[in-house]
Amino acid sequence: MVHESYVTDETWAFDCRRCGHHWSIDYELQHTAGFGDEELRLWFRNGLPAMAPGAGVPCPHCGGLRVAASRPNTPLSSSTGDAGTST
Ligand SMILES: [Zn+2]
Repeated sequence: MVHESYVTDETWAFDCRRCGHHWSIDYELQHTAGFGDEELRLWFRNGLPAMAPGAGVPCPHCGGLRVAASRPNTPLSSSTGDAGTST
C-alpha cells in the first residue's frame, strides 16, 4: 500500500463584493490519495489547517461574506484576433 501525498502552493485571489477590497492568500494544498480515484485535499495557510478558499472567507476589511474567490491557473486570455495558428 502506498499512500502518496504531495503539497502544492496555490495563490487565490479574493474580491469583496461589499466594499471592493481585493486581496490574495497563499495556501498550501495537500493532496492525499484516498480510496480509488478519490483524492483528499487539505488546505493549509502558514502551516495551519485552513478552510477551503471557496468555503466562505470573510473580507478582512469589512468582514463581509460576499466574497468571490478566483482560482489559480485560470487562463484569463480571451483569444480574439490574436496571433494563433498562422504557420
Ligand atoms: Zn469587504
